[in-house]
Amino acid sequence: MKKGKLIILSAPSGSGKTTLVHHLLKQNDLNLSFSISATSREARGSEKDGEDYYFMNEVNFDKAVSNDDFIEWEEVYKGNKYGTLRSEVERIWAKGGNVIFDIDVVGGLNIKKQFPKEALAIFVKPPSLEVMEQRLRARKTDTEEKIQERVAKSSREMDYACSFDAILINDNLDIAKGDVINMVNDFLK
Ligand code: 5GP
Repeated sequence: MKKGKLIILSAPSGSGKTTLVHHLLKQNDLNLSFSISATSREARGSEKDGEDYYFMNEVNFDKAVSNDDFIEWEEVYKGNKYGTLRSEVERIWAKGGNVIFDIDVVGGLNIKKQFPKEALAIFVKPPSLEVMEQRLRARKTDTEEKIQERVAKSSREMDYACSFDAILINDNLDIAKGDVINMVNDFLK
C-alpha cells in the first residue's frame, strides 16, 4: 500500500486543538481524513459512534489491545482508555488520503517515533493554564473533578512541547488557523 502522510495535532486538553483539526479538515486541497480513535469512555453530548470515536466497552477495548489492533493506546485519564487503530490509518491510506490525528501528547510522540518521515507532529500550545481551565469550564461537559484532573495533566504535558516538530501558539484563533494551514501545506508539498 502506498503510504500517505500523517499530521498529528497534540495538546493539553482545552488548548483548542479540536477546533484547529476541524478547520484543517475543511481544506479540501490538503486531502486530510480524520483518524477516529477508539475509546472506552462514554459518549458525551452530541458525540456519535463511528464519527467522533469508536465507543467500545472496556472488555472489547482490552481484546483489541491483545489482538495488536492499536498503533498506540493509553489510559489517558483514570479508567478511560484511548487508542489509534491500525485499520484507521490503512483505511485512509488505501483511499489515497493523508491522516490527521487529534490525540494526546504521549500518543502523538509515539506515532511520530513509529513514522518519523511520514509524520508531522504539531504541539498546540494554549496561551496559559488559566485560559485552558476557562475553556474546559466553558465546554460544560465535565464535572469539577474531571476538570481538575485535566488541568493537572495539561500542566505536566506542557513540558513535552520541545519534542515536537513544531509548536503552534493558539493565542488568537484566527492567526492560529492560518499558521496551521501553512505548516501542513509546507509539509505536504
Ligand atoms: P476527550 O475525552 O476530551 O475526547 O479526549 C481526551 C484526550 O484523549 C484528548 O487529549 C484526546 O486528544 C486524547 N485522545 C483521543 N484519541 C486518542 C488516541 O487514540 N490516543 C491517545 N493517546 N490519545 C487520544
